[in-house]
Amino acid sequence: MDCVFCKIIEGNLPSQKFYEDDECIVIKDINPAANKHYLLIPKQHYKFLADMSDGQAQVLGRCLKKLKELIPILGLENGYRLVVNQGEDALQTVPHLHIHILAGQKMGWTPA
Ligand code: AMP
Ligand code: ZN
Repeated sequence: MDCVFCKIIEGNLPSQKFYEDDECIVIKDINPAANKHYLLIPKQHYKFLADMSDGQAQVLGRCLKKLKELIPILGLENGYRLVVNQGEDALQTVPHLHIHILAGQKMGWTPA
């Protein structure tokens, strides 16, 4: 499949990986939008939260629960912001569900 995150998950594209288990990976974003910018990516390919099966929703819940142990690994002790871009208006560029983890600075709040 021509998906950049699937390629990373399959080991066919390099990435800076901070965490991996059977269900998700956490990598550094190649084009950071904050001092610290990671991507939490469930391994199964689907584009939208609205497409999630019950099983995928449970996986995503478990992935989010991992954040507690990732706090010291990613340096998130001072707080962090999670962002999920969905579709055209949100400028989703990779059609594989991922959660941006932004940290390392005081975050502004602008829609664009
Ligand atoms: P989105 O716009 O929400 O789809 O975000 C996609 C994110 O993936 C962007 O922040 C990109 O910088 C990031 N990205 C794209 N390709 C790579 C890659 N090969 N390694 C790490 N991050 C990537
Ligand atoms: Zn994919």
